[in-house]
Amino acid sequence: MKRQKTKTTKIGSVKVGSRHPIAIQSMTNVFTTNINQCLKQVQKLVDAGCDIVRIAVPTQADTIAFAKIVDKVNIPIVADIHFCAQRAIEAIEGGASKIRLNPGNVRDIKDVRKIIDCAKAHKIAVRIGINEASIRDLKDDTPPAKRTALMLREMRRYVKIFENRGFDNIVLSAKSISTIRTIEINRALSKNFDYPLHLGLTHAGLIEDAKVPTAIALGSLLSAGIGDTLRVSLAGDPVEEVKVAKEILTPLGLHKIDKAQLTVCPTCGRCQINVISLAKKIKRAIKDIEKPIKIAVMGCVVNGPGEAADADIAVCAGKKKGFIYKDGEKIATVAEDKLIGRLLLEIKRY
Ligand code: SF4
Repeated sequence: MKRQKTKTTKIGSVKVGSRHPIAIQSMTNVFTTNINQCLKQVQKLVDAGCDIVRIAVPTQADTIAFAKIVDKVNIPIVADIHFCAQRAIEAIEGGASKIRLNPGNVRDIKDVRKIIDCAKAHKIAVRIGINEASIRDLKDDTPPAKRTALMLREMRRYVKIFENRGFDNIVLSAKSISTIRTIEINRALSKNFDYPLHLGLTHAGLIEDAKVPTAIALGSLLSAGIGDTLRVSLAGDPVEEVKVAKEILTPLGLHKIDKAQLTVCPTCGRCQINVISLAKKIKRAIKDIEKPIKIAVMGCVVNGPGEAADADIAVCAGKKKGFIYKDGEKIATVAEDKLIGRLLLEIKRY
């Protein structure tokens, strides 16, 4: 997929921009001052495949804890700043690889300049993050096109402030709670700037409610080549954010597959076996296989082999038995109760 060209921004050891893989971000949701708990959560995110972790620092006690956390981890840590310039300075001095700043909620422009100069001196990145809800002049009845224009104007103003101080190690983000608005504003940002874009749908909701709107917003942008890093915002365990991010990126070919992937036919009246139960058992059996192998489970031999043509190994069901295919060739006929064992053996051999 052709990515829209953007510059490279360095966030600690991770480079973000169109010449680099799309970086997955998440955010801790435990108290930052509970250093041990926070460290454990950061580690879980690292294990899940997160590239960059953001941590909230609302108080000075948090920035003190933040510095201790940064010291103990091997992943770029971003400080999430709202309202208080002093917190930004403390976090930068405490070792942040990036800060997330909405200049609109730092009242005094002199404070914004102070933060920029501090970030520049420490050679770190800044994400200029604006939210639709915080845009001045925006009313409930402002039409969509005008909303986009106002957000774009606000972003231009902020970017200028950074550029005027000779600072360009920036990432841009503009968020909305609306799926459509998120798509529109990010398209506009992509057309108007060549800085890397951070994608996200804000306040998306509980995991089960947020997954689909987030996949639509982010998937639509990514499929148009827009976006260089993303965070899937979910009210829940942040590890789920990383999993969903991978689920969005993988079908678009934007994430390297390092695990066994399972596809299952949608089932229909031709099913010869309980496909759903078989697929669930196979999913459990392959969950720890760290091999980029595509496995398919199909309910019949009429259409199954054709529909599984893309799979490395496929199981097509017959009556009380299954046929195993490797690279499209039938290699075995196995009794139903032996299917999983044989399949695992073939995966091992593959
Ligand atoms: S593979 Fe067979 S059982 Fe499954 S959906 Fe296709 S036709 Fe139906």
